[in-house]
Amino acid sequence: MQAIVLKSQGQLEIEQRPLPERFGPGQALVRVAAAGICGSDIPRAFDGKAYHYPLVLGHEFSAVVEDPADSGLQAGQRVVVFPLLPRLDDPFSLIGEYAVSSDYDYYGSRRDGGMQQYLWVPRANLIPVPDHVSLVAAAMTEPAAVSLHAVSKLRVASATVALVIGGGPIGVMVAQFLRIRGCTAVWVAEPDGRKRELARNLGFDVIDPTAEDTVAAIAERSNGRGADCVVEAVGLALTFEQAFRACATFGQLVLLGNPAGSLSLSAELVSTILRRELTIYGTWNSKVTPVGHSEWDEVLGRMGQTLVVEPLISHRVTIAEAPAIMEAMYSRQTWFNKVIVQMDPELR
Ligand SMILES: [Zn+2]
Repeated sequence: MQAIVLKSQGQLEIEQRPLPERFGPGQALVRVAAAGICGSDIPRAFDGKAYHYPLVLGHEFSAVVEDPADSGLQAGQRVVVFPLLPRLDDPFSLIGEYAVSSDYDYYGSRRDGGMQQYLWVPRANLIPVPDHVSLVAAAMTEPAAVSLHAVSKLRVASATVALVIGGGPIGVMVAQFLRIRGCTAVWVAEPDGRKRELARNLGFDVIDPTAEDTVAAIAERSNGRGADCVVEAVGLALTFEQAFRACATFGQLVLLGNPAGSLSLSAELVSTILRRELTIYGTWNSKVTPVGHSEWDEVLGRMGQTLVVEPLISHRVTIAEAPAIMEAMYSRQTWFNKVIVQMDPELR
């Protein structure tokens, strides 16, 4: 089989490899259909953020069951893969909170992931894809579930004004879930004109932070109150600070963006958090429990209906094209939004 292998920092190569070995009972061999390139994969590949070398990236992927073995699934079943492999004796795993458990394994970061043609996956990590969802769209299930998990922290009351800072794929999916959850107005602040245009086309109000101050803009558009719900989906010190300042009194803030640097909180900013009685949430990963009623099930049920993901895909590339596009993403030579590697373009 073919695999896109990170051999060392910045060194991506396509290799012929033998099929992987099964590593436990109740697993199925899947043939990968499509794998998304996550924002986190770029520093993982090029900034030395990989756990080890060699490593096959890919934690956002769809597949088709090739050999069900003793998994109980059928050959040909279309699936998405929850990338986290929990240690089941962890106390958080016992209550289905795998993302906050310890010593877990993870496709595409701690073990070889979806940028190879075949993988063995435990039954509990395989979630069936409904017929109405294409396998390319299904490769967006993981980031969509991360977006939903962030929004699920918030209590949405009536007449809620929401602000999403960052209009990349995650930010725009967050905006969609805020709308689904009943926010009256959802604003997206994004400096990139093409991404703003995409958000606008999906029905969102947009703020251009290169033309006006995000905090002043949201205040002006909410009669001076600010946003009741803010989701920070960038991770820069500047946008973190904007997120705090944009909150209305009794506002709620979700910190979702992976921090690119440290943030120091001025006494004045902390005082604002106190005086406005803000609620601040962290969010990490997503949940596949309870089985059948999880964030992943909700995402797949809504995909192509109330959740639109296809317009967020800027590039669909082949295995052969993947290393070059990842280098272009790192060096910012190419405009991109969501990039999907079609590991097998025949699988739809
Ligand atoms: Zn990711």
